[in-house]
Amino acid sequence: MSIEENLKYINGKLGKSTKLIAISKTKPVSLLKECYDAGQRRFGENKVQEMVEKQSQLPSDIEWHLVGHLQTNKVKYIASFVGMIHSVDSLKLLIEINKQAEKHQRIISCLLQIYIAKEETKFGLDETEVIALLNDASFSSLKNIRIAGVMGMATNTDDMNQVRNEFHQLKLLSEKLKNLYASEAHPFNEISMGMSSDYELAIAEGSTMVRVGSSIFGTR
Ligand SMILES: *Cc1c(COP(=O)(O)O)cnc(C)c1O
Repeated sequence: MSIEENLKYINGKLGKSTKLIAISKTKPVSLLKECYDAGQRRFGENKVQEMVEKQSQLPSDIEWHLVGHLQTNKVKYIASFVGMIHSVDSLKLLIEINKQAEKHQRIISCLLQIYIAKEETKFGLDETEVIALLNDASFSSLKNIRIAGVMGMATNTDDMNQVRNEFHQLKLLSEKLKNLYASEAHPFNEISMGMSSDYELAIAEGSTMVRVGSSIFGTR
């Protein structure tokens, strides 16, 4: 199937409250352009340098989402244009994003990455850590970031009950954080969960953003 057909198929599964982030990592600019021409405007990359290179070659109305682990010393390269950072996993990183956003007189939308998988390799905060971060005195002084919500990656397994359960846990934590911390500055209303293998399950469990790569662009 073509990129256009893949997009159409996935968009048909989304429902009203879920947005599609096209994860274009490793794919050439020509394929992103094809996807853009088919109507897609939200793209996600997992590496800063790759995102910067692609951003400079593509139309300016694309909303760029950083979904991979972000090192503090690289925030400055994307702060002028990034639409959302899905992978915030420390207060230190958030403070740096705030600092760089301030330089560009922007407010950068962020998601707190929550550790939901039973795998050692995944980044993210657990519930205790995320609450400690949000209660930290220095958090309340950050005026150039917006906590839009949370992000999580389920375990890479064929056990769909486990995946469903992990998504459900993230949904519950999202509700809890929203009740405790939501404000005008920090809406806490986004849940970024679901990839090519599990986005339908994620939507059923309340995802508001699915991050789909290979089902749009083909295998990497
Ligand atoms: C690569 C990636 C995706 C998309 O994965 P697919 O299986 O190709 O859909 C989603 N989220 C993150 C964080 C990724 O790195």
